[in-house]
Amino acid sequence: KKRIGVMTSGGDAPGMNAAVRAVVRMTIARGCESYAIYEGYTGLVKGGNFIRKMSWEDVRGWLSEGGTLIGTARCKEFRERPGRLAGAKNLILNGIDALIICGGDGSLTGADIFRREWPNLLEELVKTGELQREQIEPYMHLNIAGLVGSIDNDMTGTDATIGCYSSLTRICQAVDYIDATAYSHSRAFVVEVMGRHCGWLALMAGVSTGADFVFLPEKPPASDWEDDMCAIISKHRGMGKRKTIVIVAEGATDADLNPITASYVKDVLSGKLHLDTRITTLGHVQRGGTACAYDRMLATLQGVEAVDAILEATPETPSPVIVVNENKISRKPLMEAVEQTQAGAACIARKDFEGAMKLRDREFEE
Ligand code: ADP
Repeated sequence: KKRIGVMTSGGDAPGMNAAVRAVVRMTIARGCESYAIYEGYTGLVKGGNFIRKMSWEDVRGWLSEGGTLIGTARCKEFRERPGRLAGAKNLILNGIDALIICGGDGSLTGADIFRREWPNLLEELVKTGELQREQIEPYMHLNIAGLVGSIDNDMTGTDATIGCYSSLTRICQAVDYIDATAYSHSRAFVVEVMGRHCGWLALMAGVSTGADFVFLPEKPPASDWEDDMCAIISKHRGMGKRKTIVIVAEGATDADLNPITASYVKDVLSGKLHLDTRITTLGHVQRGGTACAYDRMLATLQGVEAVDAILEATPETPSPVIVVNENKISRKPLMEAVEQTQAGAACIARKDFEGAMKLRDREFEE
């Protein structure tokens, strides 16, 4: 019976449990054995009790749970070859040669490196006497499949990452709560939202809450943004609006890459418009809570697809990442998605904002 391991890695995101549940149950439904690797790559490197066989019942109730119940971690050891050697040995000892990883671009890069090194790692384990040749022979190819779990929606090649809609929903709820008090006192609120280098959460939160102004990493404002923002907000106030909401993505900068902070925006609003202005940094509330319906659905459909991708893989197939485009679940070459994502970030680093937007929106060839 084929044994398929599943793990979550990098930052947690709502819907990761739904993905693990789908993978575990689909693995069993396809007549294979399911194993969970706890604490991301740390569990892979440490082995032992971190790798546990999963039954159908083990994931009962996981569909809606936020966070990740099998744990996640950032693991330095796995970035180095000795860590990956230990990981390979632990998988062989458990008879696992297929892995489904739900994480961000870092985790998926690590997985692809691991897969490429795999035969070489096994040879080294035999050479150093850690494993016998008979032990490695049935497992000469490692199959991996990636699921993108991230609240930031920061992966090129997929319309949505598992977790981003839960986070967006949470942000909208929080801004709705702020609205009532902002309206009462006729105040302005500067709301800082997560997203690292990606402005998707900030932009969509702006659209969904009817914010007055939004700052995004991919689209830095013109140098006269202070006057521009104040003119827009004054206009809205002039039309009778009693509350002002400005959303600042955590990675927002001006065109010279100087950070635009919530406190600076607050000073502009209170200094130039004399608005009673408060800052709300939403922080980890944006990561927590149950997964919204869309993330449960996406994680489940993608988890199913990941198991099938593993079972259909040949040694020649490039590692797939499971994506969604225009509501259709499909597979794309994992490293292509990761490289495009990193190229987008590199564009921002050299102030090529248009290039970054193009890369983020790009539908690359299948
Ligand atoms: P995310 O997956 O959310 O992007 P990280 O970039 O922190 O988060 O990656 C999560 C983990 O994946 C790291 O702690 C490390 O163990 C592993 N990883 C990331 N990049 C690599 C790499 N280039 N080589 C090997 N492992 C990596």
